[in-house]
Amino acid sequence: MIARVSLEIALRKEFDYSIPPGLAGQIEVGSRVQVPFRSRKIYGTVTALAEESAHAELKPVLKVIGAQTLVTPKVLKLARWIADYYCCAPEIALKSVLPEAVRKKKETEAGWKKQLFVRALMASGKFPKLTPRQQEVWNIIEERREILLTELLELAETTAATIRKLEDRGLVEIASQISERDPYAREQILPTQPLPLNPAQAAALEKIKAAMDTPPSTLNPQPSTFLLHGVTGSGKTEVYLQALAHALEQDQGAIVLVPEISLTPQTVERFKARFSSGKLQTLVAVLHSHLSAGERHDEWHKIRQGRARIVIGARSAIFAPVEPLGLIIVDEEHEHTYKQEEAPRYHARDVAIMRGRMENAVVVLGSATPSLESYYNCKKGKYTLLELPERVDNQKMPHVRVVDMRQATKEKGPPIFSPQLKEAITQRLERGEQTILFLNRRGYSTALQCPKCGYVATCPNCSLALTYHRPEQKLRCHICGFADAVPAACPNAKCKNPAIRYAGLGTQKVEETLAKLFPNARVRRMDADTMKRKDDYRKTLGDFRVGKTDILVGTQMIAKGLHFPNVTLVGIIYADLALHQPDFRAGERTFQLLTQVAGRAGRGDVEGEVFVQAFAPFHPAIQYARRHDFTGFYEQEIEFREQLKYPPVSRVALLTLKGRNEDKVKFSAEHLKRQLEKNLGSAPASGVVVSAPADDTELFGEGAKQSARDARAPQTKRGQNLFSDLIIAGPAPAPLLRAESYYRYQIMLRTCAMSKLSQTLAKIIETLVLPEDVTLSVDIDPVNLG
Ligand code: ADP
Ligand code: ZN
Repeated sequence: MIARVSLEIALRKEFDYSIPPGLAGQIEVGSRVQVPFRSRKIYGTVTALAEESAHAELKPVLKVIGAQTLVTPKVLKLARWIADYYCCAPEIALKSVLPEAVRKKKETEAGWKKQLFVRALMASGKFPKLTPRQQEVWNIIEERREILLTELLELAETTAATIRKLEDRGLVEIASQISERDPYAREQILPTQPLPLNPAQAAALEKIKAAMDTPPSTLNPQPSTFLLHGVTGSGKTEVYLQALAHALEQDQGAIVLVPEISLTPQTVERFKARFSSGKLQTLVAVLHSHLSAGERHDEWHKIRQGRARIVIGARSAIFAPVEPLGLIIVDEEHEHTYKQEEAPRYHARDVAIMRGRMENAVVVLGSATPSLESYYNCKKGKYTLLELPERVDNQKMPHVRVVDMRQATKEKGPPIFSPQLKEAITQRLERGEQTILFLNRRGYSTALQCPKCGYVATCPNCSLALTYHRPEQKLRCHICGFADAVPAACPNAKCKNPAIRYAGLGTQKVEETLAKLFPNARVRRMDADTMKRKDDYRKTLGDFRVGKTDILVGTQMIAKGLHFPNVTLVGIIYADLALHQPDFRAGERTFQLLTQVAGRAGRGDVEGEVFVQAFAPFHPAIQYARRHDFTGFYEQEIEFREQLKYPPVSRVALLTLKGRNEDKVKFSAEHLKRQLEKNLGSAPASGVVVSAPADDTELFGEGAKQSARDARAPQTKRGQNLFSDLIIAGPAPAPLLRAESYYRYQIMLRTCAMSKLSQTLAKIIETLVLPEDVTLSVDIDPVNLG
């Protein structure tokens, strides 16, 4: 037998090795192996087994790592799809489906080393007389029933000799056994029972359960994908929990994806509490980036061996080896953190849907503010829409007031707090209620906006905010390359304000100003600068929960999933900030952010109030968020996407060239553009709007197979218009043209036939010659255009 191995070094190739008799029967698809390569020994993953090889004189596999395959053949297939669709090398895709800690052999051994346990025995007969010291130690053991020897020694500040004495008295047993590190072992979690559902929840659950009970048939070959659109506080999580219970009843496993920032102890506990009681002890495994390598390793093995049937985790948990997989839940499916920003640049939500297809698992996407992509797929009949239009217990949605900051602006510029917000904070402090203040200071707020009239400079070709480049005093569109001089005064004829530049503002400034305005208020700040240590997040939220903090100031870190009944006021300091990012999703992000942040208010008995401070108060994203009107927002936003062929109407591939020498980068970008035009053909010169009907069956439908066939067909149509709807925009400098002394230029491609484009791009890139110090990255379905 021959093993085909993908090596851990980037070669974009697989190699054949012979399986020596000693290893026969131990190697299967997915096995981790060590093989000789040149003069080195290298790790790799077996991707296929074959009877014979095209090569003679094969070297043998040296070793198999671990008794069990670490990648299931199904996940392996998923990795291949990722490599194809996201245009990256297979070994890179493979690396990402296996956590580092599991890949490394050393960890494997360390993780399974035998450890000594101390266990309390039933005291039969008379309880022996103990010294006070022994008694102390015994008390700890009795309370814990079973404890790691090393942990006990530390806890009781004692020696092994003392424990031996207890053993001699027949009180304890010291035994070795395989131990596992459970990162949540010290938590006291109270079990919860399923809640009686309200009618909307019950209807949603029924549909999900029915889909799980229906095996795919010729009539209905694909498993179902649902979009659970429920306003904040509508009880989506309870629906997930009961759907998970249904999967377990059917002996199936499940994966729950949540954004990394939502993976708080609060969230994890809700899942553990439902499924960790009684004999279901180890049912829930948790995977996230704060686990130690050892913990991650153990959680992973629990899953692989089928002891944990539910996995909850961030992005990469989608690769967890759950088998059989019955259900995948993607909570907050609109979250952009599901997209990995380094190769392989996969989107976990889309990978989830693909995995569901491959393994016949039902997929439930949930959000209060669905992505346009998912909602569009519902409209097209690909996903089934489930709605929870009201908060549980008939809590009202918070009252949202938009404050026009142009009116609050004085001679010396706009204030941080409008009089209205200041007054509202004062009231809350008097009443002993809590306030959350939100400022999304992330990124580079370099759009040019007039603080007096709200005017923002936009690109005449792309309808996107122009980026302000300070050194050259230019406004640039990074999609098409349009450039303009910075106006000396506001171009709005009715305004002409000479102080048009926006001065920066951050959470720290907000905190400082609060201290001046409300010297007695207890204020805490939560952003990347203050949340450095593992425990900071938890501690700050803990203090807020128990009322040790009056006002919590933060970035998007505090926008999601928090549930604090005593928060009756939410203030959004500068709502326009997200609006004028040079990104076609700027409006969508603003709507999502405002809706999510507003959702933090009024989760208790008192109705919540939200103040949105904005210089463009009548922008649709702000107005629809004010009215809690998702569909209204969707309808107007999709029109804009349709006009300019932005997703979800088409798909985007973003090519970025990067290097230290700007001329070289620019030249390379132009060279690449010519290659693309030659090989792909492009839409008519206007560059915009082609009549081809929007159809994205590509990724998730039968179209995928069809297009794969097309791409393999000889391309003899005079090399032109392979893609009838293709738009090639750029090259243009990236919004953040120079980051860490690198210059970056981008080309944006838009088409509906993305699988086909990815494959063609891979071929073009293979033959593309670039200067040595210029690198190219490909981002399929990018979410961050920076
Ligand atoms: P969402 O995830 O939609 O924001 P949650 O699932 O967090 O909403 O629900 C909000 C609160 O309502 C939670 O405290 C939850 O326990 C409670 N809840 C959910 N469903 C019900 C129900 N059917 N009856 C009573 N309380 C419920
Ligand atoms: Zn433009």
